Amino acid sequence: MSKTVPPISLEFFPPKTPEGVAKLTAVRRQLYALKPQFCSVTYGAGGSTQDGSFAAVRAILEEGCEAAPHFSCIGASRASIRARLAQFSEHGIRRIVALRGDLPSGYGGSNGEFQYASDLVAFIRAETGDRFHIEVAAYPEMHPQSRSPQADLQAYVAKVKAGASSAITQMFFNADAYFRFVDEAHALGATIPVVPGIMPITNASGIIRFADSCGADMPRWIRLRLQGFGDDTDSIQAFGLDVISTLCEQLRGGGAPGLHFYTMNQSAATLDLMRRLG
Ligand code: FAD
Repeated sequence: MSKTVPPISLEFFPPKTPEGVAKLTAVRRQLYALKPQFCSVTYGAGGSTQDGSFAAVRAILEEGCEAAPHFSCIGASRASIRARLAQFSEHGIRRIVALRGDLPSGYGGSNGEFQYASDLVAFIRAETGDRFHIEVAAYPEMHPQSRSPQADLQAYVAKVKAGASSAITQMFFNADAYFRFVDEAHALGATIPVVPGIMPITNASGIIRFADSCGADMPRWIRLRLQGFGDDTDSIQAFGLDVISTLCEQLRGGGAPGLHFYTMNQSAATLDLMRRLG
């Protein structure tokens, strides 16, 4: 197996309080030791966290790291997206994670002028040419609202044909699902890099809930072990480190072009994983 660690990127969410902002600044400082290719910041579709997201992006840029705002189109108008793109350009942003997004429950606004992420990618390319590196989401185990894996693969290929530059996957635990997805996308002419999204395991109930909500298949043996540890956080974290570092080894051994860490605004788990990976 290859011992080279592929390029890494890090994902954060916008903190809601001044204490959260200070904590995230400290977390980023620790994680910059990993020399990430870029740091991305999530975005609440429908307007919930957009200012906090942009503030975090600006802080990352000021710290000398490439920053990639996540950017969702559901509920948005062409005019609002055009204005955001101009703001990104003005601030020297060159990479965007372009998403459809999910409207928050109870959202009272309109559903907007975009239906799918492929519409957003096509719009960004039509408006700004090659100015931005456009990342899109990929789902090796199928997006939960899709009709079938084949339909979801076609939706992914549509995003690539609309002009996506590379993709980041939803979290997953089965390396085979990732490699199959990449092979099938290649066979359909979608050959952009697909970077696995890696979720460190630090908390049993949180990861089980999140896997269930986003449609990631958590193998039964992992679920049972995690549940069996009860409140024993040290055992959960030690087991989680074994499981996720093995997954990362499989991915790098099979030629994954990078690793994108869902940091959950914590540094320890990502640093431990990278130490394990050498
Ligand atoms: P799309 O690619 O548009 O797909 C959405 C659904 O529509 C899929 O079921 C797809 O199969 C289907 N579809 C697409 N095109 C067609 C078509 N032409 N005809 C029929 N069906 C079609 N959410 C946030 O709100 N904020 C974030 O910051 C955020 N960051 C994310 C980062 C990553 C790396 C990932 C993987 C997900 C992220 N999400 C985020 C979640 C994402 O917004 C949701 O999964 C959302 O439901 C789908 O977004 P998408 O861009 O994948 O949509």
